[in-house]
Amino acid sequence: MRIVSGLVLGLLSVASAHAAPPHYRVNADFDPQGNLKADVTVTLTEAMPEKSFLLSRRFALQPMQLPSGVTVTTEPAEKPVEELTRYTFHFAKPTAAPVKLRFLYTGQINTKHDSNAAALRPEGFELFIDHMWIPIGADIQTRFTVDADIEGLAPDLVVVAQGDVKRTKTGVRIRRDFIDIDLPMVAMQGLQRAEAHGVEFFGRDLSTRLSGFYVKHAEGAARYFEAMFGPLPRKVRMAQVWRKSGLGYARTAYTVLSEGGRSGEDVPEVNPARYVAHEVGHAWWMLASPLSEDFWLVESAAEYMSMRYVEATFGAGEIARNIASKVDGSKDAGPVMGHGRPNRIQLYGKGPLILWELDKRIGRPAMDRLMIAMAHEPVHTTPIFLKHLTAIAGADQATWFETAMRT
Ligand SMILES: [Zn+2]
Repeated sequence: MRIVSGLVLGLLSVASAHAAPPHYRVNADFDPQGNLKADVTVTLTEAMPEKSFLLSRRFALQPMQLPSGVTVTTEPAEKPVEELTRYTFHFAKPTAAPVKLRFLYTGQINTKHDSNAAALRPEGFELFIDHMWIPIGADIQTRFTVDADIEGLAPDLVVVAQGDVKRTKTGVRIRRDFIDIDLPMVAMQGLQRAEAHGVEFFGRDLSTRLSGFYVKHAEGAARYFEAMFGPLPRKVRMAQVWRKSGLGYARTAYTVLSEGGRSGEDVPEVNPARYVAHEVGHAWWMLASPLSEDFWLVESAAEYMSMRYVEATFGAGEIARNIASKVDGSKDAGPVMGHGRPNRIQLYGKGPLILWELDKRIGRPAMDRLMIAMAHEPVHTTPIFLKHLTAIAGADQATWFETAMRT
């Protein structure tokens, strides 16, 4: 009996150690009006009873040719954005052999659910997960490698994307051998390129104060965080786009910023510094589920690290101003944890303030050991954070922290 269970355990661990991540083969073809023709094959190698994907309802999907032993059920879904369809694939026999799911669909790339960042604008494309234009794991945590051929890009569009990017006359080939939850891309007219330590920066005017500050502080923050967490695994490609919305976001080795309302002769240097340090911070802080209360380990942690960079670079006065505005903004924030995904104020205001307070309570050397231990974890959850906090600073500090986050 003991021998048998030992064997079973041994086999299981071998199987999971060898499971390759999901792989996406994406063929996408755009016409000048933004009509998309897509052919996406998702290859799954990990054995599982079922797997769900989300795709925007604005796309018309052709009936799928499913591999034998695979069935699909569909239902409408309104989260994390509206007007989605959830496709759940059921596998009769969970198998470690690759299963290929092919999605063929057409539809308009622009949507009203675009976080005020339209996918297609007069200057070109900005594509990311909010547009739900390829099937995305319904947990929003399914990380995949990707080979993409995207056609229908005018010759004057400069493409910024992850991995190996080859512009062709009519499109782009993207080969990404590292995993991420998204296939983000900026393809816009007139982007110029600048390079510094840790960053490749793209913007339409590299001579503005804002562009200069972004490049300077992307490099500064990369060096500051590297001294704590070790080398950035990959240079961060950073695209500065122009739209009214100030929305910015980070993926692995990729960040999009906006000029939106920020550029000008009088922009104070600390603003773009704080902002870009937050986005560079995501190189180490992006491994918690965006659908769960643990999401503070993405946004509050990146914001706390940005506060550290501001303090180190601009001094005590600047960080005191930043803390005062966060205190003022999060007066009525409510608990960060205990109700699913925290809201904006909880993520960017109250969460970072509690981390800052923890830093004061346990002392900077212990706080650094905690953040370094956490940054090296492959998955970020609150229990893992509390485990490290208990080991480093004791159970009382862990209880204080959890209570503060839940109050
Ligand atoms: Zn962020």
